[in-house]
Amino acid sequence: MRTVSDGNAHLGSSLIHTRNKRFPGPEVGDGADAPLRILPIGGLGEIGMNCMLVGNYDRYVILDAGLMFPDGFDELGMQKVLPDTSFLHKFRDRIEAVIITHGHEDHIGALPWILPALDPATPVYATSFTMALIKRRMLEFGLWSPQRFREYKLNMRFQAGPFQCQAVRVTHSIPDCCGLFFRCDDGTIVHTGDWKIDETPMDGEEFDRAAFEQVGNEGVTLFMSDSTNVLSPGRTTSEALVANTLMNRVSAWDKGRVIATCFASNIHRLEALKAAADASNRKMVLLGMSLNVYLEAAFKDNRATFNPSQLLDAEEMDGFPENQLLIVTTGSQAEPRAMLSRAAYNAARQLRLGSTDLLLYSAKMIPGNEKRIMKMLNAIAQRGPSLVIGRGENLHSSGHAHQEELVEVLRLVKPQHFLPVHGEYAFLKEHEQLARRHAGVHHSTVIQNGQMLGIAPLRNRNAHGTLGSMQLLGETRLQNMYNDGTNSSGSKDDLCLEDRVRLANEGLVVATVRIFRNPEDVAAAVAAGYVEGSQEEVEAKEAAANRRSNSWDRDRDRGGHVNTSGGSGPKLQGDVKIVTKALYTAQGEYADEFREAAEEAVSSCSAASPGWEVERAVRKAVTTAARRLLQKKPEVVVTSVDANPESLDERIVPSAATRRGMVRQQQEGEVDEKGSERERTGRRGGNSSPPRSGRTSRTNSAR
Ligand SMILES: [Zn+2]
Ligand SMILES: [Zn+2]
Repeated sequence: MRTVSDGNAHLGSSLIHTRNKRFPGPEVGDGADAPLRILPIGGLGEIGMNCMLVGNYDRYVILDAGLMFPDGFDELGMQKVLPDTSFLHKFRDRIEAVIITHGHEDHIGALPWILPALDPATPVYATSFTMALIKRRMLEFGLWSPQRFREYKLNMRFQAGPFQCQAVRVTHSIPDCCGLFFRCDDGTIVHTGDWKIDETPMDGEEFDRAAFEQVGNEGVTLFMSDSTNVLSPGRTTSEALVANTLMNRVSAWDKGRVIATCFASNIHRLEALKAAADASNRKMVLLGMSLNVYLEAAFKDNRATFNPSQLLDAEEMDGFPENQLLIVTTGSQAEPRAMLSRAAYNAARQLRLGSTDLLLYSAKMIPGNEKRIMKMLNAIAQRGPSLVIGRGENLHSSGHAHQEELVEVLRLVKPQHFLPVHGEYAFLKEHEQLARRHAGVHHSTVIQNGQMLGIAPLRNRNAHGTLGSMQLLGETRLQNMYNDGTNSSGSKDDLCLEDRVRLANEGLVVATVRIFRNPEDVAAAVAAGYVEGSQEEVEAKEAAANRRSNSWDRDRDRGGHVNTSGGSGPKLQGDVKIVTKALYTAQGEYADEFREAAEEAVSSCSAASPGWEVERAVRKAVTTAARRLLQKKPEVVVTSVDANPESLDERIVPSAATRRGMVRQQQEGEVDEKGSERERTGRRGGNSSPPRSGRTSRTNSAR
């Protein structure tokens, strides 16, 4: 197993953004009319990143610590989206435990960032299989400690923070999933975790209807349930049906290899594939690291129906006839680095596709990934394999309850209050309506990440409005954290997300200005009345103007105007080298125009202009040229180098008296020496080799 962090290195700046964060609940000790509290940190209004605070007064536990995979251009280069760890860090003294419902990444994936945000003694609770997955991850990140991580057993009550907790079995698409009951003197909260009702689960561990019914009879103050499939009518199908289909499909294929792709964590699916392989006298091969990781964890936890060592190694495939192989691969979502997508584009050494292959797509196309997946499937089809895809094929069964199951469990639990969770905002709204219309739930609401809901037990079921005894206690602004797959973690600004998107969309121009400054000219310019402005003032003025106008107007404001507050004195001499990236340049023609515009800007600066003023003028000129030629607003980075810096160093003196003295000094000496150096270093505009020496002033870039 690779180690990716010493326990801290991966955190980046993800814990330090605690300024201005306030706790959205009542003051400590207050709020007796709402003793039970819920504060979602992630997962409400989005799919993924499930994480919420569940509390009794000011004492909280964290339920789940998941991440989200970015799906858009907005998060260019990011691999993980994480909950607001800095918020959790700031209020860590109120958080007494972390409880995990199951081992999917949207429930455990942020643990390496969330745990260091909490007090080091805060325990983490999970069931044994989930804990095996957590342990592996924690070892990778240098965060494993046997005292801190505690296994809980089903149905046994354990104390976590202010709650007496009880875990009950729910069925889903990874083994060992739980729903949780949180009991305290002020009421009972029930959270389903991720669930469906599989009537014939592969491992025989059935959805515990009786426990939900029993807690319902006891009385449930607040119920929270998974909204992922609220738009799907009817019921989910059983994993056993999928197993049956796989068996038939695999046995019927006699032309060559069977290749199946599924979610790596779906151990029951792997077992079904193994059974199909056995029945048709095929050897099973796993291609893709994560398949092995989950299977090993299941085997160690006595949950796998076969020993992973019975599988064929990828290296041994060549010795077997094609019709004796069943290959299982990762990459069902066409993740660019996963085995199946690489194979689709003929970039996987271990898997070359051909016309005698059968591909079984045994997964769901996760919303947002459809386009990328279709592209991959097209590429696969072009290489010859036969494909079996699609809902009607029964090659996949969702792990999240459909409408009839949702209603059934709402009716079993008969909650006083209902809060839909785990879903897009529209799904949460729909789930709320479903509960009202079909399960007789009178009091419900929908909240979003950062909103704190307070709940009190209801004395009279029908006496209150739609909210019953729930109220919004407050709201806080949470910010997502990001990780780019390395040790860089932090806020959107820390990881420069806007810059990344802008560079990709608008391109980059780097201008290097070399200034040849003649001390005589500098002296003459100062004598003619040149006064250096204040960089801070000028930049503040620009920033204010930028805030007022949108980016295109900003360009117009800046125009080609070059500010040389020197008026009539001698002008500056210098040359400019231009490099562009991610920008169309019409075979270099536009880059030449950028250079000309930049050199014109240099030569309209006063001979006494300091570097920052020159850089600013060049940046404006290039920005304007890009707007005119390309209708683009590239990032323009300008650096300037003084070929003979002494002449300027001595000139930059704030007081007028010293300035007069300096002018005299410059007139008297050094002129000959500087004059000859100027001849050596070349003429304006001609030489594009990089400067050899000199002073580099602060780098400016257009913002
Ligand atoms: Zn799940
Ligand atoms: Zn989930």
